[in-house]
Amino acid sequence: MLIGIDDTDSPQGMCTTYLGAVLAKRLAGEGMPVCEARLVRLNPNVTFKTRGNAAIGLVAEGDRDSAFEIACAMVEELAEFSCENTNPGVVVVDAPLDGAFYRKAVTDFCTVEEAVSLLETAGGLYRGFRNRRGLIGATAAVACELPDLTFEILTYRRKERFGTPREVDRESLFDAQRRTFPHTWDTVDEENDVVVCVPHTPDPVLFGIRGESPLWVTAARRMIRSEHPALEQVWITNQGTDAHILPGRIGGLREGLSYRVHGTVEDAPKTGPGGHVSFTLRDGGFVIRCMAYEPTKDFRQVVRMLVPGDAITAVGSCKKGSVNLEKMEIVALAPGKTVRPPLCPACSKRMTSAGSGKGYKCKKCGARAKMPDVQEIPRTLKTGWYEVPPSARRHLARPLCRGIPDDRDQTVS
Ligand code: ATP
Repeated sequence: MLIGIDDTDSPQGMCTTYLGAVLAKRLAGEGMPVCEARLVRLNPNVTFKTRGNAAIGLVAEGDRDSAFEIACAMVEELAEFSCENTNPGVVVVDAPLDGAFYRKAVTDFCTVEEAVSLLETAGGLYRGFRNRRGLIGATAAVACELPDLTFEILTYRRKERFGTPREVDRESLFDAQRRTFPHTWDTVDEENDVVVCVPHTPDPVLFGIRGESPLWVTAARRMIRSEHPALEQVWITNQGTDAHILPGRIGGLREGLSYRVHGTVEDAPKTGPGGHVSFTLRDGGFVIRCMAYEPTKDFRQVVRMLVPGDAITAVGSCKKGSVNLEKMEIVALAPGKTVRPPLCPACSKRMTSAGSGKGYKCKKCGARAKMPDVQEIPRTLKTGWYEVPPSARRHLARPLCRGIPDDRDQTVS
C-alpha cells in the first residue's frame, strides 16, 4: 500500500517529512514495514506552500485500515493546527495512482476536487482536514512517477532542541562536500561560503544531505559532526531532477508554470534596484523578460555579459510576466563589437554625435562623417550551461553536476 501525507506544518514549526519519518518508524513498530520513503516536491510556484512544497509518500506492507488509522492519529497529534493555513491530507491506496496527477501537481495547479475524484475512482481511503487542501499533495505523493530520482538523508532534532540554535560543525560540512562531490551536492555553497543544508527555520530538521544514491548520502552524513539527532531517514526524491520544467515557447507561457524556452537576446542586460539583472528575450514576434535576482550572486555576472543577438535557452518559472532564471544555456554568441564616433581624418580627434540620425561632427575643424567606428571585440563568454549557485537553487532544479539538462551533447561551463 501507499500512504500519502501533506500540509502538516507552519512557518512556526513542524515539517511534513518529520511526520513521515516518525510515521515510518511507528508503522514498522506495528509490524508494517516501510520499504520505500518518498519525498516529492510539487509546483514551487504554489502560493500557499509553507516552504518547499513537499509531500511524502510511504510504500508499506500491511493492513491499510490500520495504517490509515495510525496516519490520521499521527497527523492529529503532530500537525501544526495552531496555524490556520495548515490543512492536512492523508491518503492510503493499494496501488500507485495515475501518474498524470503527479505530473500536473509538479508542473501546474490542481484542485482538491481532482484529487478526491481520483481517490474515489481508486477506492482509496482519505481524510482531508479543514479545507482539505493537503489532499492534493498527499494524492500526488501516491501517484508519483520518478523517471529520474535522487536521494536525501534528513536528520531530525530531539524534541527538547526544537527552536534552539542548531549545533552542526561548519567545517565538517565543507569537508563532507569536498570529499563526496559530485555524488552529493548542495550541502554547502563553496563559492559564496554559505552552508546550505542546515535550515534556519524552527522546524525539526537538523540537516539534509542530497546525492545520487543512499550510499553516497549516508557516507557524507557520517562525515558530519553535530548535536545528536533523534531520527534519520533516507528519502527517495524528485529533487534535483527538473521535474517542474516544461518545454515552452515565448508567447505561450502561463503564469506559475516553469519552462525551458529558446530565444535571442534583444537588449543589453540591465542591473536594476536591489541588484536584480534583467533582459528581454525574443522568439519571432514574441518577447519575454528574463530575471536573475540578487540572491543568484555571480550567476548575474554571466547574465550581464550577454549582448543582443546571443542565442540562449532560458530555464525558470514564469512569474509576473518574467522568466526567473534557474539556469541557462548560451547556445551561440553574437559577434562582440564596440560602436564609437569615428576619428576625424584631418585632426585625428574623436568626433561627436551631430544629433540623432545626423552622423558625426569634428568639434575642432567641423568635418563631418556618416558612419561610426565599429570594432570587433572578442567575447570572453563561452557557450554552454550556467546555473545559479547552490544557495539560490530550488529543490527541484537539476544541478549541472548531475549532467546537462537534456540529452544533447553540450559542454558545461
Ligand atoms: P514543507 O516543505 O515544510 O513540508 P510545504 O512548503 O510543503 O511545507 P504545505 O504546508 O504542504 O507547504 O502547503 C502546500 C499546499 O499546497 C498543500 O496543501 C498541497 O496539497 C498544496 N499543493 C501542492 N501542490 C499543488 C498544486 N500543484 N496545485 C495546487 N495545490 C498544491
